[in-house]
Amino acid sequence: MHGASSATDTATPMMAQYLEIKKDHPDNLLFYRMGDFYELFFADAVAASKTLGIALTKRGKHQGDDIPMCGVPVHAAEHYLQKLIRGGHRVAICEQMEDPAEAKKRGSKSVVQRDVIRLVTPGTLTEDSLLDSSARNHLACLVMLGTGEGALAWADISTGELAVMATDVQRLAADLARINASELLVSDRLIESGSVTAALEPFGGALSPLPQSRFDSAAAEHKLTSHFGVQSLDAFGAFHRADTAALGALLDYIIITQVGQVPFLRPPRKEDVAHGLLIDAATRANLELSRTLQGERTGSLLSVLSHTVSPGGARLLADFLARPLADAPAINARLECVSAFHDDERYTNLLRDELRSIPDLERALARITGNRGGPRDLAAIRVGIEAASRMHKLLNGQHDLRGLPSRLTEISQQLVRVPASLANLLRQSLMDELPLLARDGGFVRNGYRVDLDENRKLRDDTRQVIAALQSEYAEVSGVRALKIKHNNVLGYFVEVTAQQAQVLQAGDADRRFIHRQTIASAVRYTTTELADLEQRISVAAGRVLAIETEVFTQLNAQVIVHMAAISDVAAALAELDVYLGLAHLAREKRYVRPVVDASHVFVIEGGRHPVVEDALAKRGDRAFTPNDCDLSSAQKRLWLLTGPNMAGKSTFLRQNALIAIMAQVGSFVPAASAHIGVIDRLFSRVGAADDLARGRSTFMVEMVETAAILNQATERSLVILDEIGRGTATFDGLSIAWATLEHLHDSNTCRALFATHYHELTALQSALSGMQCATMKVREWKGDIIFLHEVVPGAADRSYGIQVAKLAGLPSSVITRATQVLDKLESHRNQQPALSIADDLPLFSAQRYQQTQESKPDVLREAVLKLNPDEFSPRAALAYLYQLKALDDKR
Ligand code: ATP
Repeated sequence: MHGASSATDTATPMMAQYLEIKKDHPDNLLFYRMGDFYELFFADAVAASKTLGIALTKRGKHQGDDIPMCGVPVHAAEHYLQKLIRGGHRVAICEQMEDPAEAKKRGSKSVVQRDVIRLVTPGTLTEDSLLDSSARNHLACLVMLGTGEGALAWADISTGELAVMATDVQRLAADLARINASELLVSDRLIESGSVTAALEPFGGALSPLPQSRFDSAAAEHKLTSHFGVQSLDAFGAFHRADTAALGALLDYIIITQVGQVPFLRPPRKEDVAHGLLIDAATRANLELSRTLQGERTGSLLSVLSHTVSPGGARLLADFLARPLADAPAINARLECVSAFHDDERYTNLLRDELRSIPDLERALARITGNRGGPRDLAAIRVGIEAASRMHKLLNGQHDLRGLPSRLTEISQQLVRVPASLANLLRQSLMDELPLLARDGGFVRNGYRVDLDENRKLRDDTRQVIAALQSEYAEVSGVRALKIKHNNVLGYFVEVTAQQAQVLQAGDADRRFIHRQTIASAVRYTTTELADLEQRISVAAGRVLAIETEVFTQLNAQVIVHMAAISDVAAALAELDVYLGLAHLAREKRYVRPVVDASHVFVIEGGRHPVVEDALAKRGDRAFTPNDCDLSSAQKRLWLLTGPNMAGKSTFLRQNALIAIMAQVGSFVPAASAHIGVIDRLFSRVGAADDLARGRSTFMVEMVETAAILNQATERSLVILDEIGRGTATFDGLSIAWATLEHLHDSNTCRALFATHYHELTALQSALSGMQCATMKVREWKGDIIFLHEVVPGAADRSYGIQVAKLAGLPSSVITRATQVLDKLESHRNQQPALSIADDLPLFSAQRYQQTQESKPDVLREAVLKLNPDEFSPRAALAYLYQLKALDDKR
């Protein structure tokens, strides 16, 4: 049976130990180490076997019942862990804390000592194989005070990030969407209160409720100051009571899940809420910032912006995009950096080549400081420090730029914060080719430690002696095929076939070869020389491994001494990578540097949609048609955009929002020129989607999102509204759209783009002084429609819905019929003014269709009703059929 160990014989005491440990981890699956396997028992086994799709077996009995069991091999545990975590489980890893041989010494029935060394939860992973290298893995913690104010703290223990921000009930959902945590800690009392239920809903199984006592701010302060070795948290910024409580509960959870081995965390950073562009969850999703609406990365804005070459850079770029800035000087500081590289391609490429060679420094550091590192992590630190130092030199002098922007100067200094002696030490001590695990040995460079070299020589020389012995024995015995082999049970032994054994045992040789074992195909012997060599080899090999382990511990300790500085270097490299990537992108795609200031200007000339432009280029389709947008002056801060289906309204709306986001991230933008007065909040209502899981219909989702916009948009905000009111009856929809437009204009006074098929709304232009009408230009040719994708002043005269339906391949009978209906409706427009308001609307109500039918009697029907077939001769019947046909043709 797999997983069998010495404990098999002592099932009862072992099970007692298991139950004792499991008692402390009722909510986690317990991975109970037994030899080369992690075993799971009872309900854990049932749950894990289901999630992992592995066999459920039994092992002994407990209280008369079979004990269900399943297991996973230790060497493949990460793969199974990943599946379990994704399946919504948390896992407690329980290791053997001593060699089973030690336990045996205490008596044959004694159980190997075991302990839980780590709790694996979605928010506390550090393994590369369990994480996406280009995304953060945030563990967040929310504290809300009775006032409706609160704090949201978050950490990524795989990169050392730790931060907190103020939040409140209104903006909570937006803040949570931005942090995008894979696990959220909240007090059970907050959950019970129900005050933030809606905001917590998306978390589902990723919500970890904790007792309220874990959120005590005084205890939190103590925990934080002692962890960071400071007298007071003031050293790191001004933290309020809620901030401290959230950070403290977060740290506490990390300590508990890591069982004391907390990976390096940077001191907490307090993020200024006012300096970030607020984007709510719906807008993030609608604008497809980091994922498309289908959940894909390809096709998102992030996928277009991603030109970073290191994992740290990719993560930081995702951070930048998750939180564009709302502070003009800070945005311009980033743009300065991108500009500096944009102007010098050769220099940018040199730096990017350096970056490409660097392994994931942040995650290597997290593993080393969390006591989970291996020799390759140490090498990653060395490679990182050395490359950083070369980049420092490149940035300072060997380039033809006229002085660095101040942020690049700071970064450059940060790059050499780790003393070169650490890199030297790591270079001198580590081999070029390294094993993954320290316990495999073979990673300390020859010449680094005299005693290690001596023992290695002893071990390896002895191996040569064995090879010589094999030749000697073959010679002496006359058995050419004699082999010296090794296994864990016998150690070194001489092996021959049964036939050869007779030769060996005849004569003198017999005294030398001592029989050990006869198996089906062979006979095995030992000799005193072999036993002696065995002893020497094992002593030497043991010493080699002990010395290597000692060196590994020392090197880890040296890295830990410099962990804060290494983390600074990693952060500097990541930031450089982002600027270099954005510069590369701008050059490649002909993006321009936007002017960003504190004004209320919004002028984009020749703007393009970054994702649609890319998609058209990839398909080798026609080029993207650039469009201007000016929302600056009081007369045109609100644009009402009408135009046919498929003409490009949504694209235009989104491209302006995306350009604003890109500018405030610090990126160049797809336009001929852009001037943007900083936006504080961005809202978009684009497209409609049911949210059935949350019990909301399409129209309800639309109205909830519109309500949020009307309640929250400020004078500094940018609002993108696409087809408000489409999901309900025509007049209701038109009325809501009408009133929404007025509210945006009069109360929110924000900059806004409003696309609609309700052409009636263009009438508002005379009443709303800040509104301007624009339309998508199209050309009609032989009954077909040609989209020019050009935005021009004015209003659309019609929707061209039927032409678009024809393009889409609706059956020609339906197209013909729809054309007839439309003609009728339009010809009655003037005669029936009561209907005229709805005539141009996209939805043809059944009621109006009926009325139209009734208003014009059906001649064909009337003729058939009048007819009496009994009166007809065959000839007259045929003649009448021709008459009817003629009537139908006239209709
Ligand atoms: P509907 O009213 O049916 O939602 P729409 O007017 O919002 O349509 P979009 O979805 O924006 O139309 O655009 C339709 C397609 O037209 C896009 O997928 C894109 O391929 C193309 N398109 C849009 N704008 C442009 C442009 N400026 N240049 C080139 N192609 C464009």
